Amino acid sequence: PVSTPKSEGKAMSDDEGTGEDYLFKIVIIGDSAVGKSNLLSRYARNEFSPHSKATIGVEFQTQTMEINGKEVKAQIWDTAGQERFRAVTSAYYRGAAGALIVYDISRRTTFDSVGRWLDELKTHSDTTVARILVGNKCDLETIRDVSVEEGKSLAEAEGLFFMETSALDSTNVNKAFELVIREIYNNVSRKVL
Ligand code: GDP
Ligand code: MG
Repeated sequence: PVSTPKSEGKAMSDDEGTGEDYLFKIVIIGDSAVGKSNLLSRYARNEFSPHSKATIGVEFQTQTMEINGKEVKAQIWDTAGQERFRAVTSAYYRGAAGALIVYDISRRTTFDSVGRWLDELKTHSDTTVARILVGNKCDLETIRDVSVEEGKSLAEAEGLFFMETSALDSTNVNKAFELVIREIYNNVSRKVL
C-alpha cells in the first residue's frame, strides 16, 4: 500500500479547506546489515525479521501520525540493499526532509562510516533536512563495540539528534521516527507562519 509523493518534503494544504495535510519524505541510510530494514518494518508494521532479506530496488512505507490535530504522513524510504554496492542513487535522497543515519552499536566499522553517510547526505539534500543518528541493536549490550557517549558526542558535534534503538525488542524505534517527523513538522510550520 504505497502512494506516489504528492510533493517532495513540502507541506501542502488539501483543497477541501478541512485542515492541512502534510507529506514528508524520510530516508534511512547507513552501512549494510545495521538494521535499517528492520527498523522500518518494526515502525511501520511492528515486524522483525531475524534473517536479512535480499531486497532489490528502493522501497518505502507510508506512516501517518497526528500532530496538533493535523494528519502528517511520512513516506519512509529504505535503501533496500543499494548500500551494499555503495550505489545509493541521488534519486533516493531527492526531496528528503528527514534522515535516519544508522549504525550498529556492536560493530564499530559501521560507526566509522557515519561521516561518509553524512557527507553523502549533504551532497544530495538541502541543509534543512532533520537528522537523527541512530545506534541500533542496543539489545546487544554484551558485545557492545561503541559506547553511548561516543554516539552522543558525534551527534552533538554534527548537530544531530541521537538515540539508541533496538528493532529486535522495539526500544526507542517509534520514538526515533516520531522525533524526526515532529522536527520536520516544526521546521515547516515555522516557515509557513
Ligand atoms: P539492513 O541491511 O541495514 O537493512 O539490516 P537488516 O534490517 O536487514 O538487519 C540485518 C541483520 O541484523 C538481520 O539479521 C536482523 O535480524 C538483525 N537486526 C536488525 N536490527 C536488530 C536489532 O535491533 N537487534 C539485533 N540483535 N539484531 C538486529
Ligand atoms: Mg535492508
